[in-house]
Parts: sequence; C-alpha cells; structure tokens
Amino acid sequence: MSSQPLLPQQSHPNPRTSTGTPRKLILTTILVPILLIAGIIFVGIKGDGVPKDDLGLARYYLKSSPVIDGHIDLPEFARAFYGNNISAFDLNKPSKGHVDIPRIREGSLGAFFWSIFVECREDNGKDFLHPTFQVRDTLEQIDVSNRLIEKYSDTFAFAGTADEVEVAIKQGKVASLYGLEGGHMLGNSLAVLRTYHQLGVRYMTLTHSCNNAFADSAGIFEPVEERWGGLSPLGRALIPEMNRVGILVDLSHVSDKTALQALSITRAPVMLSHSAARHFNNMSRNVPDEILAKIGRGKHQVDGVIMVNFFPVFASAKPDEVDVAYIADEVEYIVSKTGKHHVGVGSDYDGIESTPKGLEDVSKYPYLFAELIRRGWTQHELSLLAGGNFLRVMRGMEETSRRLRKDGWEPSGVIYDKRRDLDPVEWEL
Ligand SMILES: [Zn+2]
Repeated sequence: MSSQPLLPQQSHPNPRTSTGTPRKLILTTILVPILLIAGIIFVGIKGDGVPKDDLGLARYYLKSSPVIDGHIDLPEFARAFYGNNISAFDLNKPSKGHVDIPRIREGSLGAFFWSIFVECREDNGKDFLHPTFQVRDTLEQIDVSNRLIEKYSDTFAFAGTADEVEVAIKQGKVASLYGLEGGHMLGNSLAVLRTYHQLGVRYMTLTHSCNNAFADSAGIFEPVEERWGGLSPLGRALIPEMNRVGILVDLSHVSDKTALQALSITRAPVMLSHSAARHFNNMSRNVPDEILAKIGRGKHQVDGVIMVNFFPVFASAKPDEVDVAYIADEVEYIVSKTGKHHVGVGSDYDGIESTPKGLEDVSKYPYLFAELIRRGWTQHELSLLAGGNFLRVMRGMEETSRRLRKDGWEPSGVIYDKRRDLDPVEWEL
C-alpha cells in the first residue's frame, strides 16, 4: 500500500474562467507564475504549520483523508421525527439528533452511508408472506434521502461508486451513499434487489433484528430462534446476485451461522457497516472473534471492513463507562484480530439513543483519531481507518460485479418457493 493519505491535499483555488480572453494565454502568462509562487509559499507553511497537539494533528490529517461513516440514520431521523417532511427541519441549523451540516464540517465527515431502513415485523407469518408496506416505505426512505441531497446540494452529492466518493470529496462535497438495512425490505424478491441497485443502494445488511425469507438474524441482546439455520435456499441465491449486481454484503445484524455461510459463498469483499466486538460485550448483535478471523486477505479469508459501532449499549455491559478511549480500545481489538487494513467507522448516529462520552455527534470524530495518534497510529494508518479500507472493499465489490457480468452471469431467475402469486395461470382456450 502507498504511504500517501487517502486523498491528496486539496488546493482550493478553482481556476475557471468565463471571459473571452484565450484561456491558454491566461494560464501561461498569469496563472502559472502565481500558482508557482503560491505553491512555494504553501509548502513552506505546511512544513511549519503541522499542528503539534494530537487533536490539531487529527484535524489536519482528516482534512486530506476525511471520515467515511458506514452507517448514519439521517433518513430514519427524518421519518421518525418529521414524517419525512423536510421543510420541518433545517440541516444548516443545530439538529436535535447527532447530524447537521455545521457539525458534519466540524467533524471532517467526508462521506457516509445514508441508512435506508424500515422496521422488520416479528409477526410476518411463518414463511414471511404476510402483506406489508415495507417496499413502499423503503422507497419513501430512498425518496427522502434524494430530496435532502437535492435540497442541500451545496453540501451533499450522491455517490454510487468508490470513484464518485473520491470525486465528491475532492470537490468539497459530502459523498452520500445508500445502504439498505435488512433483507426484509426486499419483499422476498430478487427483482426488488436489482431495482434498489438502480436507485442507488450499494450495501444491504442481510437481516435487521428479525429473521426474514433470506436469512436468520442475530436478534439484539439474545439470538432469535433460528428459522433456517443461517441462510435459506433463497438467501443462498441472494448472495451471488448481490455480487453480480454490485451491492456489498453487509454482515451486521445477522446470526453467526448466516455470517459464516455468507462468507463461504460470497465472491466479493464484505462489510460490517456498524458492529461492535462481542469480546467486549457478549451480545448476539456483536461480531464474535470467529467471524473476525475470517476477514482478511489470507488463505480461507474474505477481504472486508468492520466499521465500529459507537452505541454504548452494544459496546459495553456498562454503557455509562463508554468513552472515546473505550471505542479506541474496540478499534484496536479488531485490529489485533484482523490488522489495520480491515477496520473502519460505522457510528450509527441518529439511530442510537445514547453516545459515548466525547463522541456525542458527527463533530467529534477527530477526538477518536487524536486518541489513536496518542497510541502511535501513523497518518497512513489513520487514513485507512477513516475511509481507505472501505474504499478498497467497495472497489473490490465493483470489480467482482464487472467480472461476473463479463463472465456471462445473467440476472437470477430464482423465485421464493413459498410464494404462490407468481404461479402460472391455467389458460382455457
Ligand atoms: Zn442497525
């Protein structure tokens, strides 16, 4: 890996011209000497201007390698508190949640997954066939995200690829990706998965806190009763279709068996968009060492990124004790199992009822990075944690999708075998 930060240091001037003067002339006679002088001055300042204190240094590093957060519930916040009426709140003003534009800027948040989420139902019928409004509600959550990105287009830019994330960040925008939080939102249909991809979805957690037609969930504190023993037959068809379409398999929220089986099937890198380590708190929702051991680039491992959840209730059996240092301990524990190329940040902001001391909202990421600087992390290592690891995983997923399509993989025709509505009609001629 290169020792360069995730993104090169930005130079802010954007030398556009709309005058009738020939552009070449301006560049050669005026701009080039000015830029050369500015460059010399800039280098001089940079050399002397590197902050000496840990927090200042963290902010300085995050300018060129901003945070890419794997899971933020801003769309759910809009739904739960404002009924998706985006005129009822102003993201340029202090939010009662954890996310608003001034704090995004203060915290060097360069990109995040907008979590597209609606509740799963515990009482969805034995075969998950009870009619629901989950597909409608999911479309509403994509719609409210689209509207917020458009309304605040000075800040946000939709990104559907790793390259688009980097371009948006270089343009000073906050790259906005969509992640679907639970296979229950597919209405038991691979056709819906493909359509969500067209609408911008780039990861999907296979379950939320309930089992669904594809897979068993981890539940939250205790495992829920198994339905499939991991993946269902439909779930075994889902994973390769996600690989082909270009949607990351997200193993947060799933049962251990689901995760292990998905890891044995996937052809693309995986992610855990917002998971805490079970080592620190023995909850079924948290990722166990057995699964951490499967993430990597060695033999019998799958490339992936574990993005650390900030929710104190997941992090510790004593949530009041969770602070920046505790979350840094979690990051370092995951690193002790996987190395520094497989860790990231997945705060769960706007979707959690409490936050760690010192990581109260999106303005506070630099404090985590400052803590890790104190512990000896280098600029390059911090750039991997901030977003470099995630971008590698996303590029791996994109490459797999391209390869499978090139190899002639067609859209999957698998239909959930419990459905009867697609049975062919008997024609009487
Ligand atoms: Zn979640």
